[in-house]
Amino acid sequence: MSDTPADPLPVRALNQVTYCPRLYYLQYVDGVMPVNEHVEAGLFDHRRVDAPELQNKTRAEGNTTTSRGITLCSKRLGITAVLDVIEEKNGEQYPVETKHGKAPHDADGRPTVWENDAVQLCAQALLMEEAFGQPVRRGYQFCASSRVRVEVQFTDELRHKTLAAIARCRELEQADKPPEPLRPEERHKCFGCSLAPVCLPEETLFHITRPAAPVAEQSTGTLLRRVIPTSDDGAVLYLQEPGSVVGKRSEHLIIRKDGHQLGQVPLHAVRHVVVCGNVQVSTQALQTLLENDIRISYLTGHGRFLGAVVPAVAKNITLREAQFRRFSDPAVCLQLAKAVVRAKIHNQRALLMRCLRGEEEIRGSDEPAARDLWNLLRGLDDAENLETLLGIEGQGAALYFSQFGRFLKPAPTGGGFDFQSRNRRPPRDPVNALLSFAYAMLAKDCFAAVCTVGFDPYKGFFHQGKHGKPSLALDLMEEFRPVIADSVVLTLLNNQSLTKSDFLIWRDACQLTDRGRRTFFAAYEKRKATEISHPVYGYRMSYARMLEVQARMLAAFVREEIPYYTGFMVR
Ligand code: SF4
Repeated sequence: MSDTPADPLPVRALNQVTYCPRLYYLQYVDGVMPVNEHVEAGLFDHRRVDAPELQNKTRAEGNTTTSRGITLCSKRLGITAVLDVIEEKNGEQYPVETKHGKAPHDADGRPTVWENDAVQLCAQALLMEEAFGQPVRRGYQFCASSRVRVEVQFTDELRHKTLAAIARCRELEQADKPPEPLRPEERHKCFGCSLAPVCLPEETLFHITRPAAPVAEQSTGTLLRRVIPTSDDGAVLYLQEPGSVVGKRSEHLIIRKDGHQLGQVPLHAVRHVVVCGNVQVSTQALQTLLENDIRISYLTGHGRFLGAVVPAVAKNITLREAQFRRFSDPAVCLQLAKAVVRAKIHNQRALLMRCLRGEEEIRGSDEPAARDLWNLLRGLDDAENLETLLGIEGQGAALYFSQFGRFLKPAPTGGGFDFQSRNRRPPRDPVNALLSFAYAMLAKDCFAAVCTVGFDPYKGFFHQGKHGKPSLALDLMEEFRPVIADSVVLTLLNNQSLTKSDFLIWRDACQLTDRGRRTFFAAYEKRKATEISHPVYGYRMSYARMLEVQARMLAAFVREEIPYYTGFMVR
């Protein structure tokens, strides 16, 4: 245990820990700070008390003196606060805190305050008593929406709860994983919680309460109450015009080439920027993107993922510690690798059966390749080490790609695409070029997902020992290769959205033209925005959102919050 005194806790943390200990942990220990409409509304309601020109100012009105924005700190209690308002009337001082929303009502219909808000106000009173040497017996909460002021008495019971909240915060700071999500009787709180998309309360409890991993074929698609958004807000901006320069003006990105403006994009509409090939991004634009928590991924003109510039690393060091510890354990690596290889082969088989269904009036499952893939799945649990598992994965890929050419429909006008076998570095024909490009795009999205959660993307459990490779991103992408990347490739080719004129072949290397890439980007984003039912949780979400949910469930497993990780398997 360190002798260094802990940083004082903001009294807002006492509010959070009383509302939900897991919320406190995610926000103050892991350092996650998303903003939803409730938080934004709170900031809006605070705009007057937070105005810099009013800080530390005292004003008298009638027999009441009002001081705003007073900072108080107590070493003894280990807490600090910037008090919205301290009023003094008839020789009595008391705090007044502004809150968004309406005041709740007690059993007699009188306006009251939530317990967590009362604890926060009481902590302010404790700070005032220590700073000014006078007892503070009551305070007020001003509810901005209903414009009601509610009195709170600082009883012994409330003071005791406030001190207990401080102790609970200190205890949680020492824990290496968050406490469990709230139990069903308190679950209503999750619907207004700004951290629900990070916490995944229903999903985490689902796995905690089931001792064994569900299998997709047996899953009933349990319908959980969804408390997270179906899809992500904001678009992915692809920059690929060779020789163009991206700068920043006001709240927009400006794309220019040869002195001409090619376009401008409002920053608020962008979630991720992808730079392909010879495009320059100015330092100012880069800084602004990072300040706005927007990632920048770099791809070569051939689509190879080079790396990413990501906002400052997430604060949750406990996750990265657990990642390095758990991914050094061969048994844990094997358990996880089995989950992702099972999901990958399952999804390859599902796509194969879908593509070949109806051919010569047979069911997809009658295909010899589908049967062989099924047999591989059945033998997967017996794999005793990663080498054996790599062999099984390789056999699965060989079986799947031996049939991939049959997934391609002949073009009605002739001149369709042909696929013999997988080749890469460089890909030598259009289908392989497209597959490589799709995998690179998926790798950059998985890289973003594991970084968002707080993992180190270079320490994986399956793709180990590949120096300089984002191994964990590659591990996560296995289960999504068939359902996102291969599916986009097949859609583009079978719908004739791409023709042979969209590819360039030079010295045995094939790549997409600029027009071909534009068409690909549109189809890829459309696929990611497609909503599907989660095979285990039952509710609908986009593939883009699914990537992050899977990364978060992997984090929950790594921190030993849940007993197993389940790969995403289509039904
Ligand atoms: S979603 Fe629910 S369990 Fe999770 S942090 Fe928020 S309130 Fe707590």
